[in-house]
Amino acid sequence: MAVAVLAAAGASAQAPAQPTTRPRPPPAAGLPTDAELQSAMQRAYTANKGVTEGKNADYIPALAKVDPNLFGIAILTVDGRVFSIGDTGQAFSIQSISKPFVAAKLMSEMGIQQVEEKLGVNATGEAFNSIEAIERNKEAKDPPTGNPLVNAGAIAAVGNLKAANADARWSSVLDTLGAFAGRNLVMDQEIYKSEAATNTRNRSIADLLKAYEVIPGNPAEALDVYTRQCSVAVNVKDLAMMGATLATGGVNPLTGKRVVSPDVAERTLALMMTAGLYEDSGAWAFEVGVPAKSGVGGGIVAVVPGKYAVAAFSPRLDEAGNSVRAQKAIDSIVGELGGSVFRVAQRPSPGPTRR
Ligand code: GLN
Repeated sequence: MAVAVLAAAGASAQAPAQPTTRPRPPPAAGLPTDAELQSAMQRAYTANKGVTEGKNADYIPALAKVDPNLFGIAILTVDGRVFSIGDTGQAFSIQSISKPFVAAKLMSEMGIQQVEEKLGVNATGEAFNSIEAIERNKEAKDPPTGNPLVNAGAIAAVGNLKAANADARWSSVLDTLGAFAGRNLVMDQEIYKSEAATNTRNRSIADLLKAYEVIPGNPAEALDVYTRQCSVAVNVKDLAMMGATLATGGVNPLTGKRVVSPDVAERTLALMMTAGLYEDSGAWAFEVGVPAKSGVGGGIVAVVPGKYAVAAFSPRLDEAGNSVRAQKAIDSIVGELGGSVFRVAQRPSPGPTRR
């Protein structure tokens, strides 16, 4: 089991950086040290390697065939340090983890407030593909989509991107994910075909949203691009990079390119805190305390704003569709490093205030 520590300096976005022995400057104030990150990651990996709870998603037939024993973790700090362990080069489908990044693109194009008004930003409390939630929101005169991180909101987000045709819509999505990841990403054809052949429920959602006038164009086009988006292949380092781009407030820490504005990055993280782990998002906020997003491919990325992102991958899911080992590993790392955004650093008591 190899722990790779990769230096940011000189790293190309396309190829992973090579391990280096060159001395590096100490981390910026407030950031965990290399040793702290590495030992937290190592501990999370070792403690959870033997966990076999949960099972692969099987409603998308190709996901049922993925080796359930795969397990990898990557951490990427805002100052560009990369740490990874386990099956870190293994490609898997991004699935719902793509949703916040496409929502960020839509906020950049359409405006933050417009996305709030049109797609909503509240938790649905229901499964990610709930149709009941759409109807309930509609009844309550809220945006029927709920928020951009459930299927309804995500399909509508794709359908509302500026694009003259289906190809342009797909390029917009793929380029957005690539800008966050710092490299060109590609779609996994097998996953796409499998999902496209079986996504009858998502088709109903897209048609319903057309009826409710949330998708301006062709709902089948929005659904197809959404299905492609979910089939994009990533590894844990890509996910950590995508998360770290939000952790910096919108700048990719390795390419140095601004991908979204600080305002959009902030709101994207807020969405992830509200709805990143489906109906278990409240428990996740309570127990771990960081914005995160999961996907039924088995990946999860979590962001400690201003510090680092941690991504983990393991295909076995719990009832809500969240990877069991990825949740445990991230919980362990964030807990050990004190990363909850709700935790106030304790200073030595200054004594009673005198006036
Ligand atoms: N492509 C999947 C779907 O639409 C994404 C769901 C997920 O990862 N939760 O069902």
